[in-house]
Amino acid sequence: MRTVSVSRTGGSDVLELIETEIPEPGEGEVVVEVMAAGVNFIDVYHRTGLYPRELPFTPGQEGAGVVHSVGEGVRDLEPGARVAWAPFTGSYAEYAVIPAGRLVPFGENISFELAAACMLQGMTAHYLAHDTIHLRHGDRALVHAGAGGVGLLLVQMLERLGVTVFATTSSEEKAELVREAGADQVILYTETDFADEIGKLSENKGVEVVYDSVGRTTFSDSLACLATRGMLVSFGQSSGPVPAFELTNLSRGSFYLTRPSLGHYVETTEQLRHRAGEVLGMVAGGALDVRIDSRYPLDQAARAHDRIESRASSGKIVLVVGDQGAGIRD
Ligand code: NDP
Repeated sequence: MRTVSVSRTGGSDVLELIETEIPEPGEGEVVVEVMAAGVNFIDVYHRTGLYPRELPFTPGQEGAGVVHSVGEGVRDLEPGARVAWAPFTGSYAEYAVIPAGRLVPFGENISFELAAACMLQGMTAHYLAHDTIHLRHGDRALVHAGAGGVGLLLVQMLERLGVTVFATTSSEEKAELVREAGADQVILYTETDFADEIGKLSENKGVEVVYDSVGRTTFSDSLACLATRGMLVSFGQSSGPVPAFELTNLSRGSFYLTRPSLGHYVETTEQLRHRAGEVLGMVAGGALDVRIDSRYPLDQAARAHDRIESRASSGKIVLVVGDQGAGIRD
């Protein structure tokens, strides 16, 4: 089988396609034939070493495919079942070994590509909208990078909760996508001071929550956007790590600050399958639109990384694995 391997950290050129044996499942494990793998920013952090991993490793935290073989003790999955997963490493490959309890079975009503595309960013948007803070109808939220993969899904989920959504993005073209997703107002934060804009849009009240995945360039002004007792959810760092922070800054408005991770919101198999089931159900039923930004075959994983790092993408970048991927060339 073919697999992408990282044996040293660095630029996208360290993503190497190698040939290896199809793995055997150990006790409680499943070998899945991968049909589609999602590309996420965390894959870049693993590749560069920002989030250290033991080398060599196969990147990719999410995917979808068909059960190929099951190990001893696996009772609820059989060869041929359609399954998706996230977050679990090793998806940039034709076959992946995954513990049975980290797999989510799904039906024929959703394609492998869409299932792979909505797992990590969809479950992230889901926990941010529903569980990190309990928002009420009429509350106000600011979503940074609203045209990003998580951003477009989060805007849709907040809008369904009846929250007034302000979002930032870097271009008018992306702003149009965020409006289509349901944002009430979109701010071009590369041209305008977003904290000033939030002041104007909220009649100086601020917002109940800021969802900040951008990090370095937005973090301190995000605090300035909060209403009294508002919450800053710092969940990513697309522009670079968040700078050192004085705890007393929170006392300006008795603010809350959290730095959540998807893994803590899908710790058990039950939590994972419940959250993924909600997201897959929304996608299959047409209640959640997953925008596919671009598709690449497995041997072009480096180009997929270049695209996510370029800031040019809006929505999901997918690696189409196996024979279907061979047809994608440009
Ligand atoms: P996307 O690539 O889809 O979105 C990132 C967006 O960030 C870009 O499109 C861009 O939007 C904006 N951005 C701002 N500054 C930069 C910059 N210097 N370089 C690149 N992009 C920039 O990524 P995701 O939506 O998948 O993820 C966003 C962040 O959230 C990542 O840091 C990721 O690791 C994190 N994340 C965290 C999770 C968690 O549970 N904590 C789970 C999932 C993701 P624009 O051009 O509009 O500014």
